[in-house]
Amino acid sequence: MADPKGFLKEGRKVAERRPVEERVHDWNEVYPGSAGRALLPIIAEQAGRCMDCGIPFCHSGCPLGNIIPEWNDLVWRDDWEGAIERLHATNNFPEFTGRLCPAPCETACVLGINQDPVTIKNVEVSIIDKAWESGLVRPQAPEWLSGRTVAVIGSGPAGLAAAQQLTRAGHTVAVYERADKIGGLMRYGIPEFKMEKQHLDRRLGQMKREGTVFRAGVDVGSEESGLTGDKLRERYDAVVLAMGATEARDLPVPGRELGGIHQAMEFLPQANRAALGEPQLDGVEQILATGKNVVIIGGGDTGADCLGTSTRHEAASITQLEIMPEPPTARPAGQPWPTYPMTFKVSSAHEEAGERVYAVSTKEFRGDDEGNVRALLLVDVVFEAGRLTEIEGTEREIPAELVLFAMGFVGPEKPGLVEQLGVDLDDRGNVARDKGYQTSVPGVFSAGDVGRGQSLIVWAIAEGRAAAASVDEYLTGSTTLPFPIPPTARPLVV
Ligand SMILES: Cc1cc2nc3c(=O)[nH]c(=O)nc-3n(C[C@H](O)[C@H](O)[C@H](O)COP(=O)(O)OP(=O)(O)OC[C@H]3O[C@@H](n4cnc5c(N)ncnc54)[C@H](O)[C@@H]3O)c2cc1C
Ligand code: SF4
Repeated sequence: MADPKGFLKEGRKVAERRPVEERVHDWNEVYPGSAGRALLPIIAEQAGRCMDCGIPFCHSGCPLGNIIPEWNDLVWRDDWEGAIERLHATNNFPEFTGRLCPAPCETACVLGINQDPVTIKNVEVSIIDKAWESGLVRPQAPEWLSGRTVAVIGSGPAGLAAAQQLTRAGHTVAVYERADKIGGLMRYGIPEFKMEKQHLDRRLGQMKREGTVFRAGVDVGSEESGLTGDKLRERYDAVVLAMGATEARDLPVPGRELGGIHQAMEFLPQANRAALGEPQLDGVEQILATGKNVVIIGGGDTGADCLGTSTRHEAASITQLEIMPEPPTARPAGQPWPTYPMTFKVSSAHEEAGERVYAVSTKEFRGDDEGNVRALLLVDVVFEAGRLTEIEGTEREIPAELVLFAMGFVGPEKPGLVEQLGVDLDDRGNVARDKGYQTSVPGVFSAGDVGRGQSLIVWAIAEGRAAAASVDEYLTGSTTLPFPIPPTARPLVV
């Protein structure tokens, strides 16, 4: 166990972010140097707050089943090599989750019952950043090859986790990605200030040295790719669909056709390219927030990413709209420990700028003489008996020359590969799979948002790892790969 009195002596501390006035002028991560390095001075005492509970509920809070008390103890003892070995045993990519995960482990931490929980996510990122800096993360190439081939379609966290597990198990794995670079939403969705792409590239370097082959710029299912559904099945012994839930939710109210109204995933990829000095695809003109009144519709992570990006573009004003009422700051009685509560969260982007408006609905977009949006018509709403009701007399106009939709995703795109393979869909329009992640087409598996629906990186990695175990068993008749979660596993929420 880490320090037996640690939680009595130390309070919860997190790393200081860079001053707002400094960081809004660049795209780098909000922590000085790197998140892991910023935490080093305090992380041993923070890891020492772990009580090594008899029943560590944090394990169940984390979909990966990360063995958290063990690596807390190892960090407290300054055994970083032991810590990364334990962490990598359950998580292929702790540098992604240590930066981006909402940490459901922490809301399940037993210390959280009557104190602030252990800073588990911070310990995680410290371990992996230190491990990379110390040369402790080495390629783990397989000792023998099975002679079996696997195609992974989609290079987000689910596809990458499946590919790494299967490559290490000796299979010959090719990852296909239709974007020009590998990484899924972590490449062009999530901004640099949340996770610098160098962390992704470094991990991809390890995977290449292990033998995973990457094919970017290939839209599998298109005629130009030469890889339609039938060809894919002919060429590979198994296929893993990890194409994400890329169909964005729209808002078909009057004025939707006006210029200046965009999906977040039109805006963010362009901003990410520009931040890295890359040209826009096909020379298109970048959507910029500079000098505009920006309205973001949607109060989640994607909305916060649009907010931080608009701040760095130097927008005139930024308003983030949310249809639900403002959540409480503390855990509500109806969402007790160890569940993941819906509380008011302040991301780094919210610290920087912007106003959040809750319990409002957009009725209409209003345009100028040139066909561009100039305002939104809003109305306050209330949820009564499970129904959304407009409050009479609250209609008002707010200025908006740029509107960004961040209202989530409705599922995977059906035309193309999904239709060609003929895989069954579930009643929410996601790719259906059995308890071993196999779709209705033998030899075709699915992992991540394509099957689960819009979710989180930690769930995508967990599904990728589990699907890999099933693929390995399908190809060889048995497996020793871990199977962290069944497809039916769900977050601890009420
Ligand atoms: C803006 C934004 C911010 C987010 N922030 C966070 C966060 O902070 N923390 C968090 O935990 N989660 C976050 N999420 C959610 C998280 O990114 C996703 O849950 C996760 O990336 C899903 O992983 P995946 O591997 O299933 O799919 P994705 O990451 O979506 O990757 C799927 C890939 O498949 C490719 N593809 C699709 N069809 C084809 C085809 N036919 N051929 C080849 N390639 C194809 C796509 O181009 C895409 O790159 C965020 C999501 C968004 C949109
Ligand atoms: S992956 Fe997420 S839930 Fe799991 S230990 Fe890390 S921060 Fe916690």
